[in-house]
Amino acid sequence: MTGYVIDEAREAREMQACYDELVAACRALKPLTPDEEASILRAYTMAREAHAGTRRKSGEPYIFHPLAVALIAVKEVGLGPTAVVAALLHDVVEDTDITLDELRMVFGDRVAEIVDGVTKIDDVMLMQQTESKQAENYRKILLSMCNDAYVIFLKLCDRLHNMRTLGSMKDTKKLIIASETSYLYIPLAHRLGLYSIKTELEELVMRYTNPEKYAEIEARIAATAGTEERLEECLYQPVRRMLDAAGYHYTLKTRIKSVYSCYKKMENKGIDFDEIYDLYAMRIILTDVPREREKEECFKVYSLITGQFPPNPKRFRDWITQPKNNGYESLQTTVMSPIGRWVEIQIRTERMDTIAEKGMAAHFLYKEAHPEEQLENNPVEEWLQQIRTSLEQSDKSALDLVEEFKESLYTKEIYLFTPHGKTITLPSHSTVLDFAYAIHTDLGHHCIGAKVNARVVGRSERLHTGDQVQVLTTENTQPTEEWLGECQTPHAREAIKLALRARRKEFTAEGKHRLAEYMKSLKVRNNPQNFGQLKRFFNQKSDVDLYYDIAVGTISEHQVAECFGKAHPAPQLFFLDKYKDIHPFLLDREYEGYPTETAPCCKPVQGDQVVGIVRDGKIMVHRTNCREAMKEMANHENHTVRAKWRPGEQLSLLSGIALTAIDRKGLLQEITLHISEELDLNMRAITLEASEGVARGIIMLYVNNIDSLNGLIGKLKSIDGVEDVHRI
Ligand code: MN
Repeated sequence: MTGYVIDEAREAREMQACYDELVAACRALKPLTPDEEASILRAYTMAREAHAGTRRKSGEPYIFHPLAVALIAVKEVGLGPTAVVAALLHDVVEDTDITLDELRMVFGDRVAEIVDGVTKIDDVMLMQQTESKQAENYRKILLSMCNDAYVIFLKLCDRLHNMRTLGSMKDTKKLIIASETSYLYIPLAHRLGLYSIKTELEELVMRYTNPEKYAEIEARIAATAGTEERLEECLYQPVRRMLDAAGYHYTLKTRIKSVYSCYKKMENKGIDFDEIYDLYAMRIILTDVPREREKEECFKVYSLITGQFPPNPKRFRDWITQPKNNGYESLQTTVMSPIGRWVEIQIRTERMDTIAEKGMAAHFLYKEAHPEEQLENNPVEEWLQQIRTSLEQSDKSALDLVEEFKESLYTKEIYLFTPHGKTITLPSHSTVLDFAYAIHTDLGHHCIGAKVNARVVGRSERLHTGDQVQVLTTENTQPTEEWLGECQTPHAREAIKLALRARRKEFTAEGKHRLAEYMKSLKVRNNPQNFGQLKRFFNQKSDVDLYYDIAVGTISEHQVAECFGKAHPAPQLFFLDKYKDIHPFLLDREYEGYPTETAPCCKPVQGDQVVGIVRDGKIMVHRTNCREAMKEMANHENHTVRAKWRPGEQLSLLSGIALTAIDRKGLLQEITLHISEELDLNMRAITLEASEGVARGIIMLYVNNIDSLNGLIGKLKSIDGVEDVHRI
């Protein structure tokens, strides 16, 4: 607390001034309703009283910290009254007697949830340090943090203020906070596109973690003193005059590169400080430009400036025609100033500037401010949804979870083209199916594959930047569970889930009907309590899923009986136990152990491509090209189970061959000769009828493998007079 003099009267005045500034900043953003105004005052009063008597390491009253965080939230991020209230209260639950329930009562659910989320992120970091492996807790915390983007925004504001005031902390504490910042918060700021906050955090981290280098570069920059004034005279002023003369409305900003950016450039490119060509930069932000004229106006300004100051042709970047994957748009060039120094020039409109400074956060805030517009594709929401989905599905350890989370902060994107040359941007690792859904839901639903650069590929094929993709569709294709494994983006996943859900719903009546019958025969009352018990027992979140499983037999009467502690025989299981050792099929995991039968209609044998159809708690295995099976699949796609022959099993199965031939003497002998030559075949019956010179025969045999059977068919076809041979 060196140097801090406690003077309560002065502190009270400063608090009030700080609060007034906060309210003014809120009003500048958007006029406040009386309710909002009252809520902000109530939050401030509660926080001030709760933190009363507590001081920060610097010596100042604690309340200055939440006030500063709220001010950053409004002024530097652009968040509104709800975030301000939560910011003012963000430390009261952790540090004072106030409980979450009190916050909920006074300020409502959302504020309480945000404060709770902000509090819990600290716990994540704490766990990180103790290397706790409680993955479950971790997951919950990360999930609560991703529930509301405000939590992350506020935590970043909190962290920024803590970093700005790090000076008064102990050295070890400084290092811990700084490394946490580079471990989690800088990636977060990057992902959300809060670039000015990211830059400042990087600068602060370097100051504390690499103080010598920081001081060295700071000194190099200081040594160029005077250059800015000279540039002002010979470049910045002349540009202003040109723009004024041309009648532009604009803001002109100039900057010197930050210490950290210089350091990074020197490290990455292996160059010396003197070789940094963009140490100085000028940004022209055009205001009042209609959306459709933006590109044209930016190029006009470009040619105006480069007409007078020679550009470096190697340094021209057009991010307007092809924006960066984070949405960044700008024209960029480097011109030679009359004092012989390169100066970087950025030309963009106000809209582009907001995106460049606030990135995804800008989209998010716009949507928050305009709920009535119901905009699609909010990138922040999509990203959070993606994290939530992966957290919910993952069974990883605590450290892996954080690693995965961090990785998601740096997801790269790829550019793809439609056949008409339109660009579609998707996360890297996206597949054909993601692409189809990105264009249109219907295109996704009927997608069977695509032509990628004129090569035909399947739905799950990964795409790469520059690929030109033409989606192939058929009318009678529709999404199945398997599709979920063929896509990457939450957008596609959600669309598929919706379609599956809609289809599952069609089974609700059947499921209800069956359940009612089961309950009746088990003498269990069919009421909401018992239904709830079933849902918990089978771990089903929705009614639709439960009814579906009952309808298709995934949940049998026996299992329902089990749920209510009633005895009910399970005949299928008896069958299964008896034949377990020779269970010939590998099934989808969820159907493992189900009794199977080979279908009488197509009689599949070892080696055939097969598919299972659920019927009355049993699985009928058909050949994939069996017409019965196709009919069944077309009408009840969700009855379909993936099935494969268990490899290495030698199983005899009954199969049939139909044969048509011109009747002649010795035909039967020749046929039986061929059959006996195939050692893997064991004939069971043969019928041969002849009428009007045409013989029709049916041969039933036990078959050990498909090759022998096909071999036999080939041989039978080669018999003189045989017209047709096929399996039945
Ligand atoms: Mn705080």
